[in-house]
Amino acid sequence: MLKMPHVIPSYSRFPVSFVRGEGTTLWDDDGKSYLDFLSGIGVNNLGHAHPKVVAAIREQAGRLMHTCNLYRIPLQEALAEALTASCFAEQVFFCNSGAEANEAAIKLARKTMFDRKQSHRYEIITANNGFHGRTLATLTATAQDKVQKGFAPLPTGFKYVPYNNLPAMEQAIGEHTAAILVEPIQGESGIVIPDPGYLPALRDMADRHDLLLIYDEVQTGMGRSGRFWCHQHHVGAVPDIMTSAKALASGIPMGACLTTAKIATAFSAGAHGSTFGGNPLASAAALATIAVINGDGFLQSVVEKGDYLLAGLKKIAANHKMVTDVRGCGLLAGVQLNSPAEEAVSICLSRGLLVSCQMGTVIRMLPPLIVDQEEIDRALAILSSVLNDLF
Ligand SMILES: *Cc1c(COP(=O)(O)O)cnc(C)c1O
Repeated sequence: MLKMPHVIPSYSRFPVSFVRGEGTTLWDDDGKSYLDFLSGIGVNNLGHAHPKVVAAIREQAGRLMHTCNLYRIPLQEALAEALTASCFAEQVFFCNSGAEANEAAIKLARKTMFDRKQSHRYEIITANNGFHGRTLATLTATAQDKVQKGFAPLPTGFKYVPYNNLPAMEQAIGEHTAAILVEPIQGESGIVIPDPGYLPALRDMADRHDLLLIYDEVQTGMGRSGRFWCHQHHVGAVPDIMTSAKALASGIPMGACLTTAKIATAFSAGAHGSTFGGNPLASAAALATIAVINGDGFLQSVVEKGDYLLAGLKKIAANHKMVTDVRGCGLLAGVQLNSPAEEAVSICLSRGLLVSCQMGTVIRMLPPLIVDQEEIDRALAILSSVLNDLF
C-alpha cells in the first residue's frame, strides 16, 4: 500500500498514479496504459493534452497568468461573450470551482430578492440526492446525509424535495422561497434522468410563483450531454441562473455563474468577488475549450458516440442479469447494478478502464467527448468481461 503520511486522508484513493495522458489514454508510473472513461470526473472533456488547449495555456502562461479583478481582463470579457453566446445568459461571474459557482448562484438569488424588497424570500429548494459542492452553503444545498453529517450547524434557508417529483416541489414552495436549484441530470447520484416534462414544468412553476430557477450544469454542461448545455434538450426550460465548472477550462480550475443582465444587477460592485476568478490563464484555457466544442459537427459526434455507448451498454445489460438499468444522455452514462458496484469498478481499473462507483450500485462513465468508436468498443469489452467474472 502506498503511504501518504502528509496528505489529509479525506479521499479514499486507488493505489494508482498517472504520469501522462493523451486523448482517452492515461499511463501510470509503471508504463501501463488505461482507457480513461471518467475524464477526471467530467473535467477533461476534450481528453488529455488536447493540442489546442495545451497551446493556449502554454502561450498564455508565458505572457500573463494573473492580474486580479481590480483591472479589466480582456480574455475574461471574451470568455463571457463566448459563454453567453452559448445559452440564455447575458452576463457571467467567474470563480474557481463548482461549489463556488453554486455559492455565487445562491448568493445571487438571495440578493435579488433583497433588492426587490422581499428579503423574507431567502429559501432555496433543492432535490434529494443532488450534489452541489462541499462549502457550508453548497453542502447544505446537497440533500445527502453523508455530505452533511458532522458539520452542524448548517446555514438555514434550504429545503429538500424528491427529484423528478412535481407535486412535491409545488407543495414545498412557500412565502420564503427564493429559488429552485436542481441538476438537469443528477450526476453524482448515478445519472438520474428526470421525465422530459420535469424541467419545463419547473420553469412554469417558477414563473407562476415569481421565483428563480437555477440549474447546476457543473457536470452536465460543456457538451457532455450532446448539447452545449443539458437543459437545451428541452423546449421552454430556460433557467434564470446556471452554474458551470468541471470541464469549463479543461483542467485549469474555473467556475462560472451565468445569468440575465437584469438579475446580474444584484451583484453590483463589491457585492461578490474572487481573487483568481476569470484570470487570464483560466480564461485562455476555457476559450480554447469552447472553440473546440463549437467546432463543426463536434456536438453531433457526441450525440452519435453517446448513442453508440448506450446501445453497447444495453447489450451488456441484456446479457448480465445483475444489470437492472442503463441510463445515458450524450456521453454521460450510468449502469445500475442490483448489487454493490465497487468491486467491479476496481477490477475495471486493474484491467485498464477508469470508471467510478456512484451511490454504491451504479457504474458511471464520463469518457472524453473526443473518444472514438474503437475505444468505446474496448471499454465495453472490459466492462463485459468484468461483469462475467464477478457475477
Ligand atoms: C462536481 C460537482 C459540483 C462541485 O464542484 P467542485 O468543483 O468540486 O466544487 C457541484 N455540482 C455538481 C453537479 C457537480 O457534479
